[in-house]
Amino acid sequence: MRDPVPHSVPVRDHSSQEIADRLGRGREAQAHWRAYSLSQRVRALRAFHEFLRKDRERLISVIREETGKPRAEIEAMELDAAEMILKFFTRGAHRILRDRAVPRPWVLFNKRAYVRYAPRGLVGLVTPWNMPYLIPFGDAVPALLSGNAVVIKPSEWTTKTVLYLEDRFNACGLFPEGLLQVCVGGGTVGKAVVEGVDMVLFTGSTATGRKIARAAAERLIPAVLELGGKHPMIVAKDAPMKRASKAAVWGRFANSGQICVGVERIFVERPAYREFCEALETELKALRQNADDGYGTDLGRLIFPGQLAVFERHAADAAEKGARVVGGKVLDREGLVAEPTIVFDATGDMLCMREETFGPLLAVSPVDNIDATVRALNDESFGLAASVWTRDLRRGEALAVSMQSGLVGVNDLLTHYAVCALPFGGMKQSGLGRRHSDDGLRMFCEQQSVIVHEFPANQPEFWWFPYARFKSAILSWLLRAS
Ligand code: NAD
Repeated sequence: MRDPVPHSVPVRDHSSQEIADRLGRGREAQAHWRAYSLSQRVRALRAFHEFLRKDRERLISVIREETGKPRAEIEAMELDAAEMILKFFTRGAHRILRDRAVPRPWVLFNKRAYVRYAPRGLVGLVTPWNMPYLIPFGDAVPALLSGNAVVIKPSEWTTKTVLYLEDRFNACGLFPEGLLQVCVGGGTVGKAVVEGVDMVLFTGSTATGRKIARAAAERLIPAVLELGGKHPMIVAKDAPMKRASKAAVWGRFANSGQICVGVERIFVERPAYREFCEALETELKALRQNADDGYGTDLGRLIFPGQLAVFERHAADAAEKGARVVGGKVLDREGLVAEPTIVFDATGDMLCMREETFGPLLAVSPVDNIDATVRALNDESFGLAASVWTRDLRRGEALAVSMQSGLVGVNDLLTHYAVCALPFGGMKQSGLGRRHSDDGLRMFCEQQSVIVHEFPANQPEFWWFPYARFKSAILSWLLRAS
């Protein structure tokens, strides 16, 4: 089985001079862009999206060539999901970013106080390879809407898609030149971008996230970090088995397992374990994996060659430690095709239960006590996504919200990204800050607090100099009564 399209190879890194030129151009463009009204920005971004849509087939083929994803996944998870983000933010922009009057103490009744949302300047988006269009475009939209310029540093393994986006952005004639630019290369280029921007939104591994946090702290710029995860799926004995087993297989093998919120391991209450495992195996065997260009395949290949080694290491380690591994083979090393794999009877000492696999391998384990399982999971370091499966919705919801995880679902998974009104991000080592939601637009802004003294125009405040005992007493009374 061979994907006909060769996977991407890293391109030449941009030089320090090329990066500096891009950062400088971005700042010049932002000075023009920030003067556009919000309505103008909304109109320009919508028009750009229409322009991009005219070339939808071309965009699909660029992503397909770079990632080997099935067409259905490119359409739903890259293009249509990005459109939902654009619609959410362009529809909500005026409501979310309008000046916000705030209450004030009555002693200050003659003043107006409000919060204003001002752009931060130049925003750096450092992005991974698993969603080469959705993540850069989906995050560029709110950054641009709020009046910033954007520099994207895509993964060195998926640059073509983002370069195509940049090309279309320049070609549409709707924006100041240099408003959205791409810096290509590996970690050194990412580092240089972080050193030259006013805010960074990073999506990638926890290890790199830590480096970004340190660099941002040094410069005192805001850093929003969207990092790795280890989605535990908790299946109670009364779970709706058909839905749960199908969800598990889709939740793991969609995007060939390369989704940060994808299911990594399943804990099944022991009385339901056998039935659930049988259903899983049936679903696994029904998966289609081939090089079909249309809708005739369910699984693509891996995108980043290094992920193949993780897959093999986790499968071999599980087999060695006594699990029953169904699949586990690399089908085409050159083409990066790995067999969808389930590790049955996984135990806590196995790598696939502890480290992020981020590939087509799912671990399943029986448990006797769900509450104890949740307590143990809460002691772990990741906290991105989790789900609970039961017909008892009240219990499911109570369990789900007790999990230290930024995104929780009851009988549901992988839909948080599509509900853009929900903040998206992780707790603990899975992230810092959230994308999406109203706050996910405001985070690209400096909050400016404004007070305007309205009347009487020429009257000094009585608490100014000179101090006096009676003035202090009145002030004290007024402040306490406010
Ligand atoms: P990665 O951390 O290796 O790389 C991410 C980006 O950071 C790349 O563009 C890379 O070139 C750049 N980079 C590397 N070192 C850098 C440095 N010192 N300074 C600045 N930039 C640097 O991650 P990856 O392998 O591309 O992506 C996979 C990871 O991303 C997984 O852990 C996955 O869970 C995570 N992810 C998280 C989310 C989320 O929303 N939480 C979404 C998708 C992927």
